[in-house]
Amino acid sequence: MRQLIAGNWKMNGLGADSVALARAIAAGATGITADLLVCPAALHLSGVVQAIRGSVVAIGGQDCHQDQQGAHTGDISAPMLRDAGAAWVILGHSERRQNHGETDELVREKTLAAVAAGLTPIVCVGETNDQRSGGQETEAVGWQIAGSLPKPFIGVIAYEPIWAIGTGRTATEDDVLDMHSFIREELIRQFGDAGHGIRILYGGSVKPNNAAGLLAVPNVGGALVGGASLNAEDFLAIARAAIAESGQGG
Ligand code: PEP
Repeated sequence: MRQLIAGNWKMNGLGADSVALARAIAAGATGITADLLVCPAALHLSGVVQAIRGSVVAIGGQDCHQDQQGAHTGDISAPMLRDAGAAWVILGHSERRQNHGETDELVREKTLAAVAAGLTPIVCVGETNDQRSGGQETEAVGWQIAGSLPKPFIGVIAYEPIWAIGTGRTATEDDVLDMHSFIREELIRQFGDAGHGIRILYGGSVKPNNAAGLLAVPNVGGALVGGASLNAEDFLAIARAAIAESGQGG
């Protein structure tokens, strides 16, 4: 399966910045053997859709509401994202879980809504610094997987240790090997054979200088990239480090 390199642009840039970034990524994307995805702010989706038209780059949202429509001021539904040209959506990012109190149960409902609308969800899980220093990282991630994923699960997981997001502190390749193996076992335990094919992305300070090592770890099906995805050259350099064909789900 091809690796997926996904850029999470978060709440950065104005419309023209997102369009320029998308154009630069689309222009440099030829010859890259990974699947490429960019997730701009929802307000910038339509401009980015125009900018990448005809290229191999796909588009995703950064969140969606669990309901298909209704009285939810300021929220965006999964069908709205789909209508705007998104094919993917990031769900349960730690910034949503921490800043907006999103629970595993809510993430599961959002995942169901995304799939119902025809979007592929990228469901984020990851432990806090305290959980890791207390030796509870697998327990914490195991609970998140059990609570956040509907059965059956059609989508991608992103393992993002919270202490590595936006900090410049990356998990070691051994940390990633251990956690991705654990997640793979959990997925097989919960979903049977289908668990072999679910891509597991690593996210947390992935940069051009560490991407090759992280992407070569068994069971790594790609990367979810924050800061480095805001620079087209850095994002493309990470994508060029992807493994052409990896094994089961990564
Ligand atoms: C993220 O927020 O999903 C992320 C991985 O950010 P960064 O690459 O900046 O650590």
